[in-house]
Amino acid sequence: MQLYELSASELAQGLAKREFSAQEVVEAHLERIGAVEERLKAFLLVTPEEALSVAEEVDRKRAAGEVLPPLAGVPIAHKDLLCTRGVRTTCASRILANFVPPYDATVVARCREAMLPVLGKTNMDEFAMGSSTENSAFQITANPWDLERVPGGSSGGSAAAVAAREAPLALGTDTGGSIRQPASLCGIVGMKPTYGRVSRYGVVAYASSLDQVGPFARNVTDCALLLGVIAGHDPRDATSLPDPVPDYLAEMRKGAAGLKAGLPQELFGEGIDPAVKSTVLAAVDKLQELGVECEEVEMPHVDYSLPCYYIIAPAECSSNLARYDGVRYGHRTSQPVSDIYDLFAKTRAEGFGPEVRLRIMLGTYALSAGYYDAYYLKALKVRTLIKGDFDRAFEKYDVLLSPTSPTTAFKIGEKADDPLAMKLADICTIPVNLAGLPGMSIPCGFVEGLPVGLQIIGKPFGEAEMLRVAYAYEEAEGWEKERPEV
Ligand code: GLN
Repeated sequence: MQLYELSASELAQGLAKREFSAQEVVEAHLERIGAVEERLKAFLLVTPEEALSVAEEVDRKRAAGEVLPPLAGVPIAHKDLLCTRGVRTTCASRILANFVPPYDATVVARCREAMLPVLGKTNMDEFAMGSSTENSAFQITANPWDLERVPGGSSGGSAAAVAAREAPLALGTDTGGSIRQPASLCGIVGMKPTYGRVSRYGVVAYASSLDQVGPFARNVTDCALLLGVIAGHDPRDATSLPDPVPDYLAEMRKGAAGLKAGLPQELFGEGIDPAVKSTVLAAVDKLQELGVECEEVEMPHVDYSLPCYYIIAPAECSSNLARYDGVRYGHRTSQPVSDIYDLFAKTRAEGFGPEVRLRIMLGTYALSAGYYDAYYLKALKVRTLIKGDFDRAFEKYDVLLSPTSPTTAFKIGEKADDPLAMKLADICTIPVNLAGLPGMSIPCGFVEGLPVGLQIIGKPFGEAEMLRVAYAYEEAEGWEKERPEV
């Protein structure tokens, strides 16, 4: 068994028992990255010096008998929209190609305090807009299960890196599915925590009422461990909530028997591949055997999630991305300009890719005088109705279950020219962001050799119940032991 094959908790145990050193662990992962990255292209930047220096510190402190945090020495990779002090943070965009943040995002700082060596920054759809990582300005990441297929997106680099054993853990962000959908397509565990659970200070904003940071891991235990590192109040983020952080590991082990699960019919309907649906329903049967009471539930407004999201997210993006003007951040045009507006226009036309430009225009349109009420305000009202459906369902159920993604991983290029088909990839995940709820994806089987994910949706701050269901299922089925050959 190679060190890079071990899960985060196995690595943590081995490190604590001094079976191997943190430097050996980091070196094993750097070698693995060296061996597969040419085919996978999951990283935009690998940071060996930084990772090795933290590993050296971990080994030195452990040798001196210091008590270290549980994940000390276990490597991690960060999506390239998390600000890392002194380390380039591009959002996979030409406009930020040379942006070096002067500070760390709070989640990055927390991982640093927990002494996780950072292996590098992972590829993504530009500014997190997309579902395949094909919108990166720099490279296309491959799915470790089939190199001709996409890893999902927008956090596709993080998901592929974890699935391919380049890193045991990674962070991503999820605005409409960008953690759960790539986790599903790559056969790993990914969680979007409750809106407000994890700080977004230092996370480059896409749609601020929806964005949330969360963990990727190869099993539920590792996901719970990493969530425990990043969760909790941050005075630097006004949307971060002060609720205490439970001991997720202890909660997770309480078992799933007696919990009640609803199956929203709208998330099993039109557009869901029949083979994916039957794989997910088999997982539901298994959960029933384990004592989870499952029944169908109707959530009629959920059908409007996609149109609602594609007003709200672009509206917020048009406002958030106004700051990239060639004056304060990143790229500035070198063409001759006639005035300041010409400078903005030329800089932005050069710096942003087509999907980002499209969304800025859509959002600007939806917010403009005369259209604001018809589009933006209407979408906000629909969002409230969708949230109402969830509130009602959660009066009766502890969790909701659905497919994470309507299909398994699709071919690179297959949906690139069909924006509607691409957007349908998030049909099951977007409602969860609109309602501000936590959701996670866990592996639940394969269709034609490609992984399928089960989505578990929780109440606000219901991460513990989600983990109980996920862990009970994983213990019973063990899908996480399947690994892609890269
Ligand atoms: N695919 C969705 C979008 O493009 C969601 C992306 C995300 O969660 N960041 O907006």
